[in-house]
Amino acid sequence: MYPLEKVRNIGIAAHIDAGKTTLTERILFYAGVIHRMGEVHDGEATMDYLPEEKERGITITAAVTHFDWEGYLIQLIDTPGHVDFTIEVERSLRVLDGLVLVLCGVGGVEPQTETIWFQAERYKIPRIAFINKLDRVGSSYERAFKEIKEKLGGRPIPITVPLSEEDPDLKVLDVIRGKEIFWEDEEGKSFSERPVEDGELYERWREVLLEGLSEVDDEIMELYLEGKEIPEKLLKRKIRELTLSTKIVPVFAGSALKNRGVQPLMDGVISFLPSPADIKVVKGMDPRTGDEVERSCSPDAPLSFFIFKITMEKGRKIAYARVYSGRFKVGDEVFNVRTGKKERVSRIFRLHADKRKRIEEARAGDVVALMGLKDAYTGDTYTDGTHPIIYERIQEMKPVISVAIEPKTSSEEEKLLEVLERFSQEDPTLKVEKDEETGQIILSGMGELQLDVTVHRLEREEGLDVRVGKPFVVLKETITKEAEGKGLFEQMLEEEKKLVRAEVSVLVRPLERGKGISITFEGCPEREEIKESVESALTGGVLEGYPLTDVEVVIKSYSFTPGEHGLSALRVAAQNAVRSALEKASPMLLQPIMELIVNAPDEFISEVIGDIGARGGMVKDIEKREKMSVVKAVVPLRNMFGYMTKLRSITQGRGSYSMTFLRYDVLT
Ligand code: GDP
Ligand code: MG
Repeated sequence: MYPLEKVRNIGIAAHIDAGKTTLTERILFYAGVIHRMGEVHDGEATMDYLPEEKERGITITAAVTHFDWEGYLIQLIDTPGHVDFTIEVERSLRVLDGLVLVLCGVGGVEPQTETIWFQAERYKIPRIAFINKLDRVGSSYERAFKEIKEKLGGRPIPITVPLSEEDPDLKVLDVIRGKEIFWEDEEGKSFSERPVEDGELYERWREVLLEGLSEVDDEIMELYLEGKEIPEKLLKRKIRELTLSTKIVPVFAGSALKNRGVQPLMDGVISFLPSPADIKVVKGMDPRTGDEVERSCSPDAPLSFFIFKITMEKGRKIAYARVYSGRFKVGDEVFNVRTGKKERVSRIFRLHADKRKRIEEARAGDVVALMGLKDAYTGDTYTDGTHPIIYERIQEMKPVISVAIEPKTSSEEEKLLEVLERFSQEDPTLKVEKDEETGQIILSGMGELQLDVTVHRLEREEGLDVRVGKPFVVLKETITKEAEGKGLFEQMLEEEKKLVRAEVSVLVRPLERGKGISITFEGCPEREEIKESVESALTGGVLEGYPLTDVEVVIKSYSFTPGEHGLSALRVAAQNAVRSALEKASPMLLQPIMELIVNAPDEFISEVIGDIGARGGMVKDIEKREKMSVVKAVVPLRNMFGYMTKLRSITQGRGSYSMTFLRYDVLT
């Protein structure tokens, strides 16, 4: 058992291709978890464990790994790099205490770096930065360092800096201790240090370090201005405090691929990133009152844990949990705040990628996998049942893109549906539906890559042979002006020789973009039957049958023959009223509009912009960086299929992009 002070729950995050997987492999290798370094381009990396990920050289599933680093327990929560999977990034940020942000020494601050940075800001997560790939021609520590300030608004503090430029056998300077660190073997296992030889470089970076700290700490400022010696111990303590309060970002230099600079970075993780004990309290909500409440993060406080991920394995549910307070053992009953039911924990595991180790007890600060929680959902809070608290649910994302999937042999349809259901349990941004009219299975998600990966998993992992249609975006309908509609329904009941009649009048009105649907009654009592009927009418619009959005429906009056038949007639009349109003309200289609950020070398920029224009996009901003430019644009998702391949070919593989959903809109 490690005391809490000796635990670090950290994540490593980066723009795609900055070297996150490569760095993780090195860390695991030096920690003795793996005995051979796998290279990403060989498809051998340990953390990328789905076959799908190996093939594409990307990391999708957030895996958790734990290992010992010099007497500290490091629990590494893997964060995926691709934007299609932002929900996974958000989810892992929810449970981390600290973040290592990997920057490419050539690319510097890239679009995804910005996204992660601002998400981390939102959750107030302390971070340190690793400027990687300093072996590469065109890399610059100093430039990336400056970009942390200029592009992210952070306050970078140099802890290690490179002693040479673009050097595969990189040595680094420890700016706190004034030592040069060099590695002795190719695998970078052993390293030594010696006193500083390059005094000028040291003085320069020492100044940057002290100036940076002085901006936010009076004690350091005074000592610095008076030219006094600052003891190493004080400096380290201050850097730790200021990192924890997210006022500064310690920066490290290295080349993961060439096995240089990794150990000092890990020392930084231990010295500067928080332990669960540093997180004194966590904020949640009292489910009875809705008031904000705080919970002390001690193992002796009442139990609370948060589920950040669910996977299904061989029909069994595995719930990944971050324990915020208290402790529990195998066999204990725990209380799901959402369902209000008790469930029994049957097993507790610590994790290493797809391997697990059974343990008997989990406590505050732990990140574990649990079996036995059959009702657990991503975002659920569990307690002991007597001390209620609920942690904020992760924001839900609605799918914007779909494909039709069909098994090559029709007998496999059931299995296909079953597997897709399971995938969507694991990843709530994935939705599966059977279209009642065409009988097709429709898979929907947040992006083309996500759907692509899912289809390949069907084939690779489940041996399912499928035909896949062209991807299409999920459109919506809305209206552009106010209109009234009347719905009438009459039916002669032959047996009783009686006429059943219902009549409903409604008004529909356009709402602002992003407002969704609102249904109200004006001058007549509310009736659930009418409301339900209106809701159902709004699921298919009058243009092409897409769901409606940004529409207000006001029910003005209604009447109906009493009795059961009259109520059925009322339902039909309400539907008819809404449809007739929608038809008169100048309906139109809305499509998913995305924000696109492209990063590409200058010589390709005009072609990149031309291509965005051809896709009906609008460039909002072009930002010039050294040799690279960043283009920000608004684009219709509908025209963005195959963009990754196109961008690679335009930029000879040197461009990168990120794309996130903005809103449903018309592009004008
Ligand atoms: P991720 O997408 O952030 O996980 O990045 P990867 O670890 O998959 O690395 C992307 C590519 O960059 C791979 O081809 C790596 O071999 C390469 N790479 C990673 N780190 C370095 C480095 O320090 N120097 C160089 N030259 N290449 C690197
Ligand atoms: Mg990776």
